[in-house]
Amino acid sequence: MTELERRWLELSDVPFDELEDGTLVLAEDWWLFPKGTDREDIWHYFDEHHPDGVYALLYEFPRERVVTCVNCKESYFVSELRPVPVCWDDGKPIGWQYLCPDCVSDLEQNGILTRCECCGEVFYALDLQTDPETGEKELCPHCHEVWCD
Ligand SMILES: [Zn+2]
Ligand SMILES: [Zn+2]
Repeated sequence: MTELERRWLELSDVPFDELEDGTLVLAEDWWLFPKGTDREDIWHYFDEHHPDGVYALLYEFPRERVVTCVNCKESYFVSELRPVPVCWDDGKPIGWQYLCPDCVSDLEQNGILTRCECCGEVFYALDLQTDPETGEKELCPHCHEVWCD
């Protein structure tokens, strides 16, 4: 799953306002788009940037799609699972794994997953980044802050 595909899924939770002429516009700032952006413009962005276009996204990533938790192999609706980034390259994740809420808390307890206290994002402890000042692996890969003291 790419960043774009993850954003596509996220888009279904983003609130829109309906104008008098029926146009749907963003009710708040979201990702690259300011409040008031026409939903069609956002769809165009996905259409231009996804190799298979927006119709492939609509077909392939409806919210009702059932996927398997990579840890327990149980089936869930994709909207119930937590995407966890994997394979960081140059400060950006290039892949995502889907985990169910139970597995997220199990893996957090085992120290395999870490939740950053600054930004609240979850990531694999292996992906902690090295702080150039201290030489310690202690930076959150999402926000690049020290994840805890
Ligand atoms: Zn699971
Ligand atoms: Zn963070």
